[in-house]
Amino acid sequence: MEFQKFRTMHFPRDVYIGHDVLDHIVDVVGENCRNRNAIIVSGDITYELAGRKVHDLLETYGYEVRAFLVGNANYDTLEKLESESLDFQAGIVIGVGGGAKIDLAKKLAFDRKLPFVSVPTAPSHDGIASPRASLRRNGVSYSEEGAMPIGVIADTAVMIKAPYRYLAAGAADVISNLSAVKDWKLAHRLKGEEFSSSAAAMSEYSAQEVLSQINEIKKYEESSVWLVTKNILASGTAMAIAGNSRPGSGSEHLFAHALEAAGVENMLHGEMCAMGTVISMYLHDENWQQIKEAFDTLGISIRTRDYGINDETVINALRTAHSIRPERYTILGESDMSYDAAVKALELTGII
Ligand SMILES: [Zn+2]
Repeated sequence: MEFQKFRTMHFPRDVYIGHDVLDHIVDVVGENCRNRNAIIVSGDITYELAGRKVHDLLETYGYEVRAFLVGNANYDTLEKLESESLDFQAGIVIGVGGGAKIDLAKKLAFDRKLPFVSVPTAPSHDGIASPRASLRRNGVSYSEEGAMPIGVIADTAVMIKAPYRYLAAGAADVISNLSAVKDWKLAHRLKGEEFSSSAAAMSEYSAQEVLSQINEIKKYEESSVWLVTKNILASGTAMAIAGNSRPGSGSEHLFAHALEAAGVENMLHGEMCAMGTVISMYLHDENWQQIKEAFDTLGISIRTRDYGINDETVINALRTAHSIRPERYTILGESDMSYDAAVKALELTGII
């Protein structure tokens, strides 16, 4: 048979990670901006944390800068941002924030076909180095195609100021690669889905690195931010190699999205993924206890009651998570899990 395999990979070209790297925004913008105009998308708090510094630095170097301080990542905010920035002929979009601002910035950059730079202010999830943007409409979140960051500036001296809860959630999002890769292998075997062993290895390695140093992840320690962030970036690279989010998103993410769709709002993405990873590893008949212990060490509860979620909501989320993204085959299969099996799985793992 003729050889016809091909794959396209997009990687960030400038990645700065570590203490006080924020100043390098000038280098990244200098290399990539198409004119002398830059857009900053940030929030009230994150602008004070890092956005203002980016703004001032660029102005010092002669750029005209417009900063848009935005709220939640939903379609209304996006529309407002797109129309308000329309008259400004920008040559680059810089997202400065945790999750929502980065998502809005990468979507804006994608729609306007502009280079995008990601400046995360919290190490809370793998969206900081990926081209996917999560946006909400009527409480339901949709994964949209955004711009792959041309540059990532992850300043650990900035990110250490984020609440510890975000760091723990980011670590959980990396650990969730373990169940994601198991689902990917399953889809490869059962559905003939294309599988990249190098992407899978890199994804699993980053999860194992976080797991093996779980006791080193502590509050107020910049080295912990470094550990989690570099593995978030490695997960992003694994997804870039695969050309899709398979290495970092399987049944545990479907479950997290099902919880979101059910209206759960007071949990971080990584916390929902933590819950999902324990249940997925149980369904894969893997060592879920070890994963649960790791989340305990991080201080992440996987008990729904600790977040005020009732049992029926989580049972229903587990049963129907497969339908969130039907083309993504996982251990959750293609039909609703039986009610009794769902209850048993959730009780046994201590989720309900
Ligand atoms: Zn995630």
